[in-house]
Amino acid sequence: MDTMKAAVFEKQGSFVLKDVPVPSLAGDYHVLVEVEAVSICGTDVHITADPPGYIATDGTTLGHELCGTIIEKGKNVTHLDVGDRVVVNPNNYCGVCVYCRKNLPNQCSNIEALGIDYDGAFAKYVCIHSKVAYKIDKTVSPETAACAEPLACAINGLNKVNIKPGDSAVVIGAGPIGLMAAMLLKASGIANLFILETSEYRIDFARKLNLGSVLNPLKDDARKVIYDKTEIGADFVFDMTGSQIAPSIQLVRKGGSVVLFGVNKNSRTEIAQSEITTKEIAVLGTWLANATFPQAIKIIEEKSIDLASLITDVMPLDEIHSGIKKLASGQAIKIIIKP
Ligand SMILES: [Zn+2]
Ligand SMILES: [Zn+2]
Repeated sequence: MDTMKAAVFEKQGSFVLKDVPVPSLAGDYHVLVEVEAVSICGTDVHITADPPGYIATDGTTLGHELCGTIIEKGKNVTHLDVGDRVVVNPNNYCGVCVYCRKNLPNQCSNIEALGIDYDGAFAKYVCIHSKVAYKIDKTVSPETAACAEPLACAINGLNKVNIKPGDSAVVIGAGPIGLMAAMLLKASGIANLFILETSEYRIDFARKLNLGSVLNPLKDDARKVIYDKTEIGADFVFDMTGSQIAPSIQLVRKGGSVVLFGVNKNSRTEIAQSEITTKEIAVLGTWLANATFPQAIKIIEEKSIDLASLITDVMPLDEIHSGIKKLASGQAIKIIIKP
């Protein structure tokens, strides 16, 4: 049996590089993909932490943000061919549950996540269902294409609101998805963009991207800066951290929208509900990607935003442990593994 090197989450506290069998086609609708590039996600950091901040199935090869080339396909796959380059929606949905039939496949009752629930792409080959594989142009760099999934999530968040040229927005948290959201907001015509971040590394990084005013709420009076500029508060506030709903409600204008992106399951925040009522604020959650891969692929192919500037490191699979450590330390934005 042919084997390949894979980065496997064996059990809590044990994440190892080891030889595993090369996967074979799991079914007639599946494709076998040779992985060109796969990005380390914050979720991978949480899964491999001890104690873990996110639960994966023991014995699973991690890695879910990938770009690769199809080397074999099941006999019922009609929309893709061997040789096509693809990106993948890692959250495979069933298509028949009540949520799927309400056009909410990201809320599918039977959702299964690549590289978390079943074997992912920190390996040379990965087998996926063809319905979650999307063709992407071969002229795009594989490193940039590997960012399609987080970009599709960011787009899903922006799709929740109606952005108009000249509007103002605040992004709280300048991690990879926060910076992608900021880039999309700027490209969508947001005139006044404020990015709030407390990590010095990320503040410096965000400033170099020239997307808007980067403020450190521990040092700057962010509320004053935002109200001085907008007079009434921001039209939109995006909380990428999962814990900043209270300041979001302070910073948004009356009638504005707060979009909650990040997930922090431990966060419990006291808010004055009356402020949401009397300011007539829309508070919207957004989760994963929903029908946003086609948009993400267009944006990547047309280089509508400079995604490549978010890639701070490219490493071989052998260095995955140092990559995860580096991302956990906050000294990187997007780290790409080339298996
Ligand atoms: Zn991810
Ligand atoms: Zn479903």
